[in-house]
Amino acid sequence: MQVPFLDLKRVNESFGIELEEAFKRVHQSGWFIQGKELELFESEFADYSEVSHCVGVGNGLEAIHLLLKAYGIGPGDEVIVPSNTFIATWLAVTECGAIPVPAEPDPKTHNISIAAIEAALTPKTVAIIPVHLYGQPADMDPILALADKYGLVVIEDAAQAQGAKYKGRRIGGLGHAGATSFYPGKNLGALGDGGAVLTNDSEIAAKVRKLRNYGSKVKYQHDVLGYNSRLDELQAAFLRVKLRRLDDDNQVRKNIANHYSYCLSNSDLILPDVPDWADPVWHLYVIRTKNRDNLQQYLRSHGVETLVHYPIPPHRQECYATMKFKPLPIAEQFAEQVLSLPISSVICDTDLNYVVSLLKDFRA
Ligand SMILES: *Cc1c(COP(=O)(O)O)cnc(C)c1O
Repeated sequence: MQVPFLDLKRVNESFGIELEEAFKRVHQSGWFIQGKELELFESEFADYSEVSHCVGVGNGLEAIHLLLKAYGIGPGDEVIVPSNTFIATWLAVTECGAIPVPAEPDPKTHNISIAAIEAALTPKTVAIIPVHLYGQPADMDPILALADKYGLVVIEDAAQAQGAKYKGRRIGGLGHAGATSFYPGKNLGALGDGGAVLTNDSEIAAKVRKLRNYGSKVKYQHDVLGYNSRLDELQAAFLRVKLRRLDDDNQVRKNIANHYSYCLSNSDLILPDVPDWADPVWHLYVIRTKNRDNLQQYLRSHGVETLVHYPIPPHRQECYATMKFKPLPIAEQFAEQVLSLPISSVICDTDLNYVVSLLKDFRA
């Protein structure tokens, strides 16, 4: 039996002819950049995310980068980031010339620890980027309280958590602004690259709108040094189709995660911990074990594909060698212990039960 980690072909096939109709609509309109589909998607995704503004951009990295720029963050500024995130969170900070200051996660939730944020604060700190890692909301209230106290900007990295809720409210609009990604494998994935900025701040939304389009609001007038980072009409049209089913797809993921957690509760594996205020959307179902490499090899030899998110933490990457980051023991330990099990909106019960039975049989 073969169980892929994520079968994107099946995910997109499950939308039937709806995606093809979206393609036809854009193809026949002859309009491919900054048109009606984008406008409609922005308004639909803003409503879904419970914010007043959504600005489509080229990808998730650029969503964070353009937000940092819109807040005027640059050289000399320090931005607190999780030590165990995908590198894009850090790259957005260095792309502005600012300094990423890592904060270690809470070992239970894998999300940024409040105590670690407090310990990382300096007079140069200007912002915090909590990541809703693996689809589980970070503990936003104490982060927002700290930000209030020290006058910091809070930008949520919501790339892995479209649809997740924190204390009953959608993530993405809880801080000053949020950034998300529509990379094909995300919970709301395009058929190519895409991203968006979410905010209730109309000034910031207007700034990002300008920055994504050559620093221009009126054609051929350039007020600020801008970029070309836009969400195109085709991707916006595809995303409109997929957004309508996002809550249902997330429910399927929740059922899979619950099944894993229920069936594996007596095993030696360290399972995801969900605080009672969190309503996660399970972009990934990540377990931890000291025998990670053996377990991954065992599953692979039985046809089950798993992935490691992420094998090398950002501070240990070659690209950051000159910044001489200190060791970060929790991030480093997680990199050796985490394993992401197959999860998606299309995985069938037979495959799921097969993975569970293998995991139950595993002996280190
Ligand atoms: C995917 C991801 C990003 C980057 O999104 P792209 O669209 O691939 O640029 C940023 N942060 C996190 C946590 C991600 O998972």
